[in-house]
Amino acid sequence: MSQLVYSSKINKIRSFALILIFAGILLMYVGLIFKSREWLMVIFFIFGLLAIFASLIVYLWIGTLSLRAVPIICPSCEKPTKMLGRVDACMHCKQPLTLDKDLEGMEFDEKYNKRKYAKQKNQSTD
Ligand SMILES: [Zn+2]
Repeated sequence: MSQLVYSSKINKIRSFALILIFAGILLMYVGLIFKSREWLMVIFFIFGLLAIFASLIVYLWIGTLSLRAVPIICPSCEKPTKMLGRVDACMHCKQPLTLDKDLEGMEFDEKYNKRKYAKQKNQSTD
């Protein structure tokens, strides 16, 4: 097994949304420091709200992605996980997974999800 620091796509997006929420709260907090200058405080608050709003959109997006993801049982840790695309990693043990039999046993690479790679592969088999 190759060593990689690859996390499941859904987990990645989820942590991004979490960072956005913290950024939003932080921005509003910074806004409070500028209480004496009302316009500055308002600007920080607006940006903070925008960041939180953006994270809500990202969370909604994860929701729709999860619906499209393929639920599977991880062969490595035997926990249920979800896959996005042709290759993804297990949410629990980060075991690389593939739905494509041709890619089984190959070194894990995110490029297998790219359209270009799929094209090349089709050309070589034709
Ligand atoms: Zn696993």
